[in-house]
Order: sequence, then C-alpha cells, then structure tokens
Amino acid sequence: LKALHILGGGLAGLSLARGLAAQGIPVTVYEKIHYPRHKVCGEFITGLDRSTIDRLELGSIFKGALIHKRTAWYFRDQLLFRRTLPAPAIGLSRWTLDARLAASARECGAEIREGTGVIQLAPEHGESWVCATGVPRTSGRSSEGPRWLGLKAHFSGVQTTEDLELHLGVRAYAGLSAIENGRVNVCMLLDTRGHPAAEVHSLEKALHSVGLIALAERLKMAQADPASRVATAGMALTTPRQVGKVIALGDSLGMIPPFTGHGMALAFKSAARALKPLIAYSSGACDWSTARQSLLGQNTTTHNRRIRYARLLHPLLLLPGWQRVAAGFAASPVFPWRLLYGLTH
Ligand SMILES: Cc1cc2nc3c(=O)[nH]c(=O)nc-3n(C[C@H](O)[C@H](O)[C@H](O)COP(=O)(O)OP(=O)(O)OC[C@H]3O[C@@H](n4cnc5c(N)ncnc54)[C@H](O)[C@@H]3O)c2cc1C
Repeated sequence: LKALHILGGGLAGLSLARGLAAQGIPVTVYEKIHYPRHKVCGEFITGLDRSTIDRLELGSIFKGALIHKRTAWYFRDQLLFRRTLPAPAIGLSRWTLDARLAASARECGAEIREGTGVIQLAPEHGESWVCATGVPRTSGRSSEGPRWLGLKAHFSGVQTTEDLELHLGVRAYAGLSAIENGRVNVCMLLDTRGHPAAEVHSLEKALHSVGLIALAERLKMAQADPASRVATAGMALTTPRQVGKVIALGDSLGMIPPFTGHGMALAFKSAARALKPLIAYSSGACDWSTARQSLLGQNTTTHNRRIRYARLLHPLLLLPGWQRVAAGFAASPVFPWRLLYGLTH
C-alpha cells in the first residue's frame, strides 16, 4: 500500500486520516499546533447527512453533543423572530471535537505529527499529498485584503433564548451556541473595513463597536474562559485556485460563509468523498491523477454550488442597508427558509 500525507489536522484532515488508517493505509498528518486547542468557530454543525456520518464513522465522536432545534435572530439587539431550524444542528466545541478525532485517528493507526509549525506545500509535495489546511489567508496585497476577523470565547452562566442565537450588527454578526458542559460559545465574524483595530481587539469591545451593546452587557454578567478567547484575522472568503498535484479538501477548497453553520459538514463531506479514490490510489487500483480528477469533478459541482449561493446571501446579513430589508423579510411568515436552506446545505 502506498503511504499518504495530509497537511492540516482539522476536521477534513483528521477524519480522512482516520478513515484511511482504519483500512490499514499508512497515513501521516502534519498539524502546526497541539490538541486540544480552541478555534474560531460557531461550533454548531448543520446539514451533516447520515451517509457522511456513517462513512466516516463519526457516531462515537459526537457522543454527548447537544442537538439544536430552535433559533432566535436579533437585529441590533432587537428580537426579530424565533423559529425551528429547517434541520437539527449539532453543538460541540472544537476543543473536544478535534481532540477526539485526533485520538481516534491514532487508535486506528494514523501517525499524527503535532506542533510541526507551518509547513508550506511545495511543488515536490505532489503525488500522495492532501491539502487540508483550512481557510486560505489574504494579505494586504490581495484584492480582498485582510478584511475578515473572527473572534470567539466560551462563557458559563449565559442563558440563551433558543439553542442558537444570531445577532446582526454593523458589518458583523455574532452567534451564540450552547455546547457541552453547560457552556455557551460566542463567535463573531466582522468586516474590519470601518471598524478601527483598537475597537475590535476583544470580543466584548467588538460587540460594542458593531452596535450589539445589550449582548455585550449580557456577557459582562457571565464568566468567560480566558483560555478559550481566540481570534483569526485575514481569512479569505474567496475560492482559491487549485494548483499543483495536491488534492484539496474542506475549507482549502473555499470557505462557505459562517452564518450557514455548514463549513464543518462540508469539510467532513469532502473527506468522505476522498476516501474511495484515495484507497484505490494507495492499493494501486488507480494512479494519482485519476484519483484527483474524480474528486475535482465531485468537489466543484456540490461544494462550490453551496458556497456560491451562500456568498450571494452573505452581504444581506452584513451591509447595514440590506440587513434591515433582509431582517424584515426573514421575520415574515412567507420567508422561503426551506428553499434557502436547501440551496446552501
Ligand atoms: C467566524 C467563523 C465561524 C464559523 N462557524 C461555523 C459554524 O458554526 N459551523 C460550521 O459548520 N462551520 C463554521 N465555520 C467554518 C468551519 O470552522 C470550517 O469550515 C471548518 O473548520 C473547515 O474544516 P477544515 O478541516 O477544512 O479546516 P480546519 O478545521 O480549519 O483545519 C485546518 C488545520 O490545518 C492546520 N494548518 C493550517 N495550515 C497549516 C500548515 N501550513 N501546516 C500545518 N498545519 C496547518 C490548522 O492549524 C488547522 O488545524 C466558521 C468559520 C469562521 C471563520
């Protein structure tokens, strides 16, 4: 059997490694940090289908996770509506989820090299290399610039009005999602254009800065876990060009806007799709370029279609003028929730 190498030990990389190792395939994951670790993420998973859960054998990984059924949306601290989600979502922290996946992948026989630091893919990383390094980064020189900032922290002592709360602020939104151990994850995505850096360097300050003052005050009464405070700047909400011979999975194919809560499911789905062609490659049943081509076709049609629709909707949740219109429409009984959910999940 040919060995496989996976750069990036997040959801796509670890679940793929676990699936390959379970088939006896030698696989190594290179991850720049150590587990467990906190990660900027809303920590609710929507649209993860039964067939992906079964193919990746994720059942035990989600043990103790919460099942979310209801959501409440707010516009500048004003309740817009409460609703049943089109499909139940899973609530589990990345601290627990990624660490469980890593431990289980090791038990299956995968080698996981933690704390490797940043490894850059080079042309010689061609055949047998999978890129699962997550959302690409932008620099000040790219057309998008270092525009998107993500902030998150876990809180105890916060009562949510529904399983999931979504708060629309000025060029920003924040999500509250109940996770294990009675905690609530608060996560925010912010367009830094128009928000000076000094005003957004902590979650509470950022909430104030984007007009979510009641939410910021509510969190002041709760206890934040200081170790869970993390931020990520310079995320690219564009689709990267796939170069070289590597196979890309999850966010490295392009990140779906976070409001959908579907990025993690897409990462798992891309890993599930990659299993069969990579097993075929490893066992010599096909060559690398055949395995890669079969995946490119599948990934571009399903993955990119959902991302395209979600990116069309994203400005409506962020731009002050559009937010008002979208929020009003979303609150109305004729709002096509199921249709939009179907297009983006
Ligand atoms: C603000 C925000 C909120 C979100 N909320 C949600 C949500 O509620 N629900 C949802 O489903 N999705 C959400 N997402 C998206 C979700 O986090 C991603 O879609 C998901 O993590 C993608 O998984 P992945 O395996 O592709 O990448 P990741 O989980 O990001 O894993 C990539 C891994 O690669 C490692 N790595 C990166 N570069 C290198 C390198 N060069 N060398 C070695 N290691 C490297 C990283 O350390 C990381 O562990 C959110 C995203 C953001 C930004």
